[in-house]
Amino acid sequence: MAGTSEGPAIGIDLGTTYSCVAVWHRDRIQIIPNDQGHRITPSCVAFNETEHLVGDAAVNVLAMNPANTIFGAKRLIGRRFSDPLVQTDVKHWPFKVICGAHDKPIIVVTSKGQKKNCTAEQVSSMVLTKMKKIAEDFLGVPVKNAVITVPAYFNDSQKRATRIAGCISGLNVLRIIVEPTAAAVAYGLDNMFSSSEEKNVLIFDLGGGTFDVSILTMEKTTFKVKSIAGDTHLGGEDFDDRMVNHFVKEFERKHGKVVSDNPRALGRLRTACERAKRNLSFMSHTTVAIDCFYDGVDFESKITQAKFEELNMDLFKECIGHVEKCLNDADMDKTSIHDVVLVGGSTRIPKVQELLKDFFNGKELCKSIHPDEAIAYGAAVQAANLTGQGNPEIQDLVLWDVTPLSLGISTLDDNMSVVVPRNTIIPTKKERGFTTSSDDQTSVTFRVFEGERPKTSDNILLDKFVLSGIPPAPRGVASINVYFDIDVNGILTVSAKDKASGNENQITISNVTGILSKEEIDRMLEEAERFKLEDEELKTKMDAKNSLERYIYGTRATILSKKLPDSKARILEDEIKSAIKWLDEQKVIEVDVFEKKRKDLESIWNPIISKF
Ligand code: AMP
Repeated sequence: MAGTSEGPAIGIDLGTTYSCVAVWHRDRIQIIPNDQGHRITPSCVAFNETEHLVGDAAVNVLAMNPANTIFGAKRLIGRRFSDPLVQTDVKHWPFKVICGAHDKPIIVVTSKGQKKNCTAEQVSSMVLTKMKKIAEDFLGVPVKNAVITVPAYFNDSQKRATRIAGCISGLNVLRIIVEPTAAAVAYGLDNMFSSSEEKNVLIFDLGGGTFDVSILTMEKTTFKVKSIAGDTHLGGEDFDDRMVNHFVKEFERKHGKVVSDNPRALGRLRTACERAKRNLSFMSHTTVAIDCFYDGVDFESKITQAKFEELNMDLFKECIGHVEKCLNDADMDKTSIHDVVLVGGSTRIPKVQELLKDFFNGKELCKSIHPDEAIAYGAAVQAANLTGQGNPEIQDLVLWDVTPLSLGISTLDDNMSVVVPRNTIIPTKKERGFTTSSDDQTSVTFRVFEGERPKTSDNILLDKFVLSGIPPAPRGVASINVYFDIDVNGILTVSAKDKASGNENQITISNVTGILSKEEIDRMLEEAERFKLEDEELKTKMDAKNSLERYIYGTRATILSKKLPDSKARILEDEIKSAIKWLDEQKVIEVDVFEKKRKDLESIWNPIISKF
């Protein structure tokens, strides 16, 4: 556990669309605004000729540079390229994703004039670095420790990949906690600490790319997760996709032009659709208009709230299906839920609220916590708790989380032998006895899976390992114990021990699921460090350029205010114009050149101005 001496610990909600950072500061949790004053930062990274941009700056260039502006990395993290969900996303995205080694999705961009292959971990690490920097600028001290949130339904490999992204960004990831639990902490901090009754609370968290629903029982500072359900691939971006597809079809029908293979047009349409979707949460209809949309043709079309709902009704209903499943898993009736808490930007959609309210027989939904900020808030509470900061209630906080998916071993005939059933409270350690399946077998390969299907081929292979040195014996005689150990982060270690020989083996994370190797992580760490140095160097150069520019314009203002004789003012104005022209012509930025230019100008201009 990190101590207070290690400085502040932040909570980061690493979202699909937006990220948010919070910290315990001046006796309360504070959401930290970014350099634009916004409390949420787009999880977007753009590469260009000179630098890489993150957050609002990256979104600003999306329309101009769609092939090099990356969003939605969270939808790729810890997944295989061949995953059908990845395949669907890749078709919609204006940037290129290819299949790398071990079926890992690789994002291909052009950065500083060169092709560059990035993993989702790298892109996420750039977003995390930005969030770390936002916190450091606010607090005025370096920040090392963080709690990062992930969707409840993230599997082991997605959680590990997120942890690796944190590590590449230079953060010490104190803990990975799941988003609805973090939101529950935010809700609990406001509602439970002063109350003595026990409550069952359902957290409905519909964000940009993921949907989580979770039921907790809360009593003062002890929160126990009873069950979780959801979908790591359902959220606002899917609603945007539906609207994009609707308009693409309409445009192609009206104008006989094919836009679906034009990334720039699709990127602009997507941005406009996302804006329209937000408007439709407050208006009955809105207009989507894009100048020079495609082939010189403008785009303009109306969409009503009813049409938007019709386009997405199956997805909205899927959300309610997950709520039912979550209640079943918790063995609870909907009437036993005291509060239904809304979290995530997409819960602003009126139809989603209406369906949920109807499902709970007209029960008022709880909107008291901020849907965009609650997760970061809860993560910051957890970060304070883990580092001995915060008030006594925060220190008393006890969280019991659960595993989202069943974990097990593949047995004969491809059957899934479950060792840890889903919704088991973590941390946990479970064991299960296995034996050999043929005579004189001296080694056994254990393949570890995650998922609910009876056949392992339908589940997710996490990893495999071999236990050897088993003394030869008729089949079924050997007695092998397999242990599944899940830590507080929900991360799994599997080990096996042969009773007779005492031989043991433990799972080592391999590249089976596309998890990065130590060498790859080291390479990315080195690259991140290089990026940091390059960014600092670019900033120094830009500062030198800006300082010269400010000096030139400042001199012009001084001349005007000092009312120099016309002849002198004219000469200086000509020189100022030529200096501005010189500045505009500098393609390569060199600090020495700008500093020398400034000194030269100062030596000529300052003596003239000082006389008046
Ligand atoms: P989150 O992941 O919680 O940050 O949620 C981001 C998602 O919420 C994005 O898909 C946004 O488009 C969506 N969103 C934000 N505000 C609204 C709104 N007023 N109506 C509908 N969707 C929204």
